[in-house]
Parts: sequence; C-alpha cells; structure tokens
Amino acid sequence: MVSRTLPLLLISFAAINLVHARVTDNIKSMANLDFLNDLRAKYPHQPVFLQAVEEMAIAVEPLFDDRENGAFYKAAFLYLTEPERIISFHVPWQDDEGNLHVNRGWRVEFSSALGPYKGGLRFHPSVDDGVLKFLGFEQIFKNALTGLPLGGGKGGSDFDPKGKSEGEVRRFCESFMTNLCRYIDASTDVPAGDIGVGGREIGYMYGQYKRLSNKHGEGVLTGKTPGLLGGIELRPEATGFGTVYIAQQAIEDKLGESLEGKHCAVSGSGNVSQYAAKMLLQLGANVVSLSDSNGCLVFEDGMTQDDWDRIIECKQVKRARLSTLGSLVSGKYVAGRSPWNLPDMPVDFAFPCATQNEIDEVGAKMLMEKAARGVFEGANLPVTASGQEVLRSHPSVLYIPGKAANAGGVGVSGLEMSQNSSRTYWKRETVDALLKDMMSSIYCQMKDAAGDSGTLEQGTNRAGFLKVAQALKELGWVYVKPMSKL
Ligand code: NAP
Repeated sequence: MVSRTLPLLLISFAAINLVHARVTDNIKSMANLDFLNDLRAKYPHQPVFLQAVEEMAIAVEPLFDDRENGAFYKAAFLYLTEPERIISFHVPWQDDEGNLHVNRGWRVEFSSALGPYKGGLRFHPSVDDGVLKFLGFEQIFKNALTGLPLGGGKGGSDFDPKGKSEGEVRRFCESFMTNLCRYIDASTDVPAGDIGVGGREIGYMYGQYKRLSNKHGEGVLTGKTPGLLGGIELRPEATGFGTVYIAQQAIEDKLGESLEGKHCAVSGSGNVSQYAAKMLLQLGANVVSLSDSNGCLVFEDGMTQDDWDRIIECKQVKRARLSTLGSLVSGKYVAGRSPWNLPDMPVDFAFPCATQNEIDEVGAKMLMEKAARGVFEGANLPVTASGQEVLRSHPSVLYIPGKAANAGGVGVSGLEMSQNSSRTYWKRETVDALLKDMMSSIYCQMKDAAGDSGTLEQGTNRAGFLKVAQALKELGWVYVKPMSKL
C-alpha cells in the first residue's frame, strides 16, 4: 500500500538501484510495454507522440515492478499520457496581396502538477496535435528536472514563416495571440519560442497580448527582449549554452577529458544550434558542421569565430539560407546532406539541434563507426526509436536526452517569470551562473537516478518521472486501491 506520508521521491533514487539490477543491455527487448496498447489503439495517427511515450516507458518500466509502489508508478505514468486540456483554434490572417489565409493553432496544456503549463510555441508546416502532444509530454519531465515550479505544455501552428514578409509574420502572430490570450496567464500557462518562433515573433505576440489584456509587466510569455520588454539576459543563448555545459560536465566526469580540440558536429542553424556552436568555440572545440533542411555546411578545419559571425548575420539579420553564404565562410556547403549522413566527416561528439527524428538507425550506426563518444540532444527527440536502440547497444557512449540536455532554455524562461513577478532585472553574469548551476544539478539528478548500473539516458527519464509522480501523489490526483489485507 502506498502511504500518503511516504517520502516517495527521497526513497526512490535509492530504490531504483535495487529495482534495477537489470539494466543497460538491450533494454527494449526487456521492457514489457503491453500496458500502452490502449494508448496505441487510440492514437495510431500520432506516431511521434507514441514514440516519446514509449521512450519514457522503456526507461521507467522497471519501477513498475517495485513491490510497494509499482502499481502507483504505472497509474501515474498512464495518467500522464493524456493531456489535461488541448485548445484548438483557427488563425485567420491576411497576406501582402490582401488574400485571406486560415491556419490551425493549438495549445496543449499537458500537466499542471508542478506549476503553470510551460513550453514553447512552434510555427512549422509539420505541426499538428500529435507533434505538440509529443513535445508537451517531454516538456513535463524536462521542466521537472529544472527544479522550478513549472508544469508542461506546448503549442503552435502549421503556419510556415519561411518566405513570409515582416508584415505577414506580424499579422499572423497578432491573430494567433488574439485567440490564445484568453487561455494564458502568468499563473496558468506561459508560452515561449520554439522552431519558427524567436524574439521577433514573441515580441509581436506580446504586443498583441498587451493591447488585449491591458496588463504590461506580466510574465505571461517568455523569450521577450531583455532590457526592453521585460525579457531576461541570456535567454537566446540558454538552450545551446546549457546543452554544452551539461555535455562538458559529462565528458569531464565520465571520460576525464575536455571538449578542447574535439570534433563536434552540430545540426541545424537556428537558435539552439547557433549558441551551442558559440559555446563550443569558446571551449576550444572543433565545430565541424551546421545545417538546415536543405543541406549541410562542413568545416574541415573547424569553424572560426569569423565564420560564426557571418552565419549569425545570415540567419538573424538577413534571415537567409545557409546555401547563400558561399565563400563568405571557410566551410563547404553540401546540398541535400545532414551531419548524420556524411561518412567522411570526423565526429567525437554529436549535438543534434535541429528537429525530431533527424538521426535514424543508419545515422546512429555511422556515428558509432566513427567512434563518436557522446550524443547530446539540443533538439527534442532528434534520434529515432531504432537510432536510440543503436546508442543503447553502446552503453559507454554518453547519451543525454533532450529532457536534460536542452532544459537550460526553459530553466532560464522560468527565471524570466521570477524576474517579471518580482519586477526586477538580473545581470547576465547572474543568469549565466544560475544556468550553469541548474545544468549541473540536472546532471547530478540523472547520475543519481541512474545509479551504478544505469545509463544517463535512464537516469534522466527516471529522475523527471519520479518528481512528477511524487507531486501527483501529494496532490491526490493519482492513487491506487489499497491492497486487501491478507
Ligand atoms: P529554430 O531557430 O527555428 O531552428 C530550427 C533549425 O532546425 C533550423 O536550422 C531548421 O532549418 C532546422 N530544421 C527544422 N526542421 C528541419 C528538418 N525537418 N530537417 C532538417 N532541419 C530542420 O528552432 P530552435 O529554437 O533552434 O529549435 C531547434 C530544436 O531545439 C527543436 O527540436 C526545439 O524543439 C528544440 N528546443 C528549442 C529550445 C529553444 O529555446 N529554442 C529549447 C528546447 C528545445 P530550416 O531553416 O531549413 O527549417
């Protein structure tokens, strides 16, 4: 029987080590995921959501065998697979020629167990409710790892910002917020950016929120411009920097080495990739790639600071494609390729920072053939299920899932909420110190939860899950029938 006063979380890190004598080898074949059959039958049209749930289930499934709390853990897991609320709305907007377009918008308010729903907005043609459910599900556990009082959510639209004029993007953002604003609040749901939503889009949405609500200092959106609109210093950098900070700690702790001189492949060229590359350069790493959905920029001799400056101008100022850089950078652009399908490019550590499922089984095998020693997920779920199996079959490879590796972004967003509610402004150095501390604490949580025999991947998922499960228990939202007396 699960006693109400049982300090679940405190005992759990020790308990999992007992429960989990069986660990790393071929984890998937050992996991019994039949309890997800109802979910699979209900959502066959949401494969990436099911993939995210299964990845989590594989890591926490041994907890379900715990004699005392196993039934509770399973109930809590299933409870967390259904969002508390999904809001769906239309987003009508006018293009520059005066034509009317109507896109779909969503906000998935997944779990409020730990605090207000928190998670970004994604504008990309691939967005649908299944993609947002996958992202919202991951967000619950990621936010738990930050140690801040944040629930999990995600939202967005199937709008494609690529090729749209400034006016079109502004009108779209205003229309999106016209619908969204009735559901968000600093204590209820606090969106931020994600793919296709950066500082510009957050600014336009915040502008519309202020007009409609007549509230002007609210931490109701994060990622606002620092020093101007109430944003926090270092938020643009936070996700990429955080990913590199945790990678650095893992490499030092587990391999006794540093990032200096190591060949680091980064994918994507958006917000997360740009600042992951910047921090890698600062730490003396050899950044060998960046990419976009059309091709890959390969730096045989490592990216230079000049290269980085040109890329930032291309992406942040001109909003242009990598292919337009030509001889402005020292790297060579290879059309139609990604960092994960270039056999001759050396890779010690991989930083997938673009999108979900970008490294498939073949890509993961190629990384192992290159003797890569770490995969640190700046993006959410960038490795396919079969790619993950390849990584798991090499337990010495440091594999840190996005829930831990890219949590610095939402962590600093949480600090932005605190900054807004206390009407204060923190210096860049203060925020950087807090970010470093947060990533270090996440590393310790996952290492503790992994125990002696588990992997960092298992530790990440277990630590996040146990924290949310503890909240569900104390809130009285999940309970199991007492066992009948013998
Ligand atoms: P972003 O600024 O919009 O950049 C996305 C990058 O990924 C672009 O270079 C884009 O290339 C590339 N990309 C998108 N879809 C792709 C595809 N199907 N194939 C290949 N490349 C693709 O977005 P971001 O904020 O950096 O987010 C990147 C990832 O990090 C996402 O998984 C996001 O969920 C995750 N993340 C972001 C944050 C954050 O603070 N921003 C926090 C945590 C996690 P194109 O320009 O060609 O589309």
